[in-house]
Amino acid sequence: MLTERIGLLRSTLPERLNLSYAMKANPMPAVVQHLAGLVDSIDVASAGELQVALDTPMPASHVSFAGPGKTVPEIRQAVAAGVTIEMESENEARRVVEAGDHLGLRPRAAIRVNPDFRVKGSGMRMGGGPQQFGIDAEQVPDLMANLAAADVDMLGFHVFAGSQNLSAEILVAAQRKTVDLILSLADKSPWPVRYVNLGGGFGIPYFEKDQPLDLGAIGANLAFLVDGVIATELPEARTVIELGRYIVGECGVYVTRVVDRKTSRGEEYVIVDGGLHHQLAASGNFGQVIRRNYPLAIGNRIDEPADAKQTVVGCLCTPLDLLGSGVRLPPAEIGDLVVIFQAGAYGLTASPTAFLGHPAPAEVLV
Ligand SMILES: *Cc1c(COP(=O)(O)O)cnc(C)c1O
Repeated sequence: MLTERIGLLRSTLPERLNLSYAMKANPMPAVVQHLAGLVDSIDVASAGELQVALDTPMPASHVSFAGPGKTVPEIRQAVAAGVTIEMESENEARRVVEAGDHLGLRPRAAIRVNPDFRVKGSGMRMGGGPQQFGIDAEQVPDLMANLAAADVDMLGFHVFAGSQNLSAEILVAAQRKTVDLILSLADKSPWPVRYVNLGGGFGIPYFEKDQPLDLGAIGANLAFLVDGVIATELPEARTVIELGRYIVGECGVYVTRVVDRKTSRGEEYVIVDGGLHHQLAASGNFGQVIRRNYPLAIGNRIDEPADAKQTVVGCLCTPLDLLGSGVRLPPAEIGDLVVIFQAGAYGLTASPTAFLGHPAPAEVLV
């Protein structure tokens, strides 16, 4: 499924556009290894992820390191490895220069820009307005002037405005604005722009009324922007989009076993041996405003009629541990396997596994 997903992206997006895997969506080493052979670069968000990425055949020059609050040891590690550091604040820019001096190396860096526009419709907004991410667009020209004489290999710009967007129309408009913003900053850049990271934010359908993203419309717009505008205006630039959820989200399932069932005042409860400590997002507690059910099935009764309304809960002592509220499923029995779909992104590593001290789930790449 992962290979097919990359195939879909490659066949729809322009050839010149580089595809980066944002590995925080699923940092399982086997997944990252597999994807390293299929994508052009990997985006990491911590020194731990950096190590996983460097353990793949991906060259360090095609690994980027984003995220606020990078520590001095992390920055030194990244400079030593030769990965591209996406600088998210003035202090971070200073620390990158100091790390280069300290190590006698020329750091590779880019500026993460907090855009001067907002992208609507994202599940999580990470750009526009006040943000802990990136450097406000209006502050970037001064920062570039201050860094002009520094011993840094400044490659270009990165804008990432939000996650889980299902509207091609909004994403297309955001990509155009991003390119406009980067062109205006490039005008003031003391360095030739060799790296343009347009972010991503492609969403996947989780709930009944969600429509899959119109990737064709996005591909057409990116062809115009990458093959037309950027190829003409910034001919030296390697242009990148970075995707996490869109690559891995639909490729994973979470499987948990029914340990009990009971009727409480007319409601049918199915109690499983897993829960939000393994798959927080499916419980609705990972940034969702309204809790809705992820797609669920009884894996060993897939062909039976789904005609019994049941509520699937995890084994934690909290009412938050709800995996499916009033879902129509075949009547579940003790020992059955509940399958939660769309579980490949922000699953195990985005869940509080230590909460209540139950065993961690096994992860398997099939
Ligand atoms: C989290 C993150 C991504 C990936 O977001 P998805 O919605 O999973 O595609 C990409 N870039 C940056 C900088 C991120 O922080």
